[in-house]
Amino acid sequence: QQEKLEDLPGVGPATADKLMENEFDSLEAIAVSSPSELSAKVDIGEKTAINIIDAARKEADIGGFETGNKLLEKRANIGKITTMADDFDRLLGGGIETQTITEMYGEYGSGKTQIAHQLAVAVQLPKEKGGLNSNAIYIDTENSFRPERIKQMARSLELDEDEVLDKIYVARAYNSNHQMLLSEKARELAKKIKEEGEKIKLLIIDSLTSHFRAEYVGRGSLAERQQKLNKHLHEVIKFTDLFNAAALVTNQVQSNPDAFFGDPTRPVGGNILGHMATYRLYLRKSKGDKRIARLVDSPCMPEGESVFTIGEEGIRD
Ligand code: ADP
Repeated sequence: QQEKLEDLPGVGPATADKLMENEFDSLEAIAVSSPSELSAKVDIGEKTAINIIDAARKEADIGGFETGNKLLEKRANIGKITTMADDFDRLLGGGIETQTITEMYGEYGSGKTQIAHQLAVAVQLPKEKGGLNSNAIYIDTENSFRPERIKQMARSLELDEDEVLDKIYVARAYNSNHQMLLSEKARELAKKIKEEGEKIKLLIIDSLTSHFRAEYVGRGSLAERQQKLNKHLHEVIKFTDLFNAAALVTNQVQSNPDAFFGDPTRPVGGNILGHMATYRLYLRKSKGDKRIARLVDSPCMPEGESVFTIGEEGIRD
């Protein structure tokens, strides 16, 4: 790898070392980085960074145009993770997809965190049972991750509870900057786990937006908030691309009673998130333990709804 890096323009042994230290240890990792990020971390000029990234893109054969067939080939590697509810899976075309961000938004108690827990368990199942035989990373911003709940769900699937917990890597994010840092650390962790012969196929961020919403209040800070969220999401996309992993992020709905205009059930984050989350699910409560998931703006699935239940065993039809 080191030698490959030294073939890049303007990269000598010292810069190659710095690249390696900063997780830019493959042409792919460099190819999907941004010039400002690369120049800051590796301590090189932005112009040099641009040249390095360009060359890495050519070498790694990514970042340019691809034919439809090539894309189809890449999409053939897409994996799906079951929600454990058949009808919900049908709505999604088989489960949540790798190489994709799935966004779930809905009001408090609509089931976002429960689904996140369920998928962290389901991803561990073998392929024939709807999983990807892999581990999960869980970034928790509201202290809502509950190992006890994971155990319950594992038990109902007759899985070893401790083993299941061992395969979920949880980090608590204390503020938006910390959250952004953790999404970068997730990449390092996934790489390490890969080297150990295991896989991470699911990155959960619950909630994606709560810190951003709390910290950037008022009209004046809206642009900055969107910019930060945008950067954060790019990091998430990078993760899904590098590891052929699924990302599942949750989002609250705006509940601003002062807003007479506009839809009160709009997700926080507005357009930026809309353009990056390939699958958007709007969740709402129904009678008792029933919930309704609505698929909105999917690139290749028809809009539609599905009813599921939340029970002790987890998410089911
Ligand atoms: P959100 O993340 O959208 O705010 P949650 O995913 O936390 O909502 O959903 C909370 C709901 O999940 C609770 O109102 C309850 O109905 C259900 N729930 C949570 N834990 C259990 C459990 N152990 N057994 C059955 N239902 C549960």
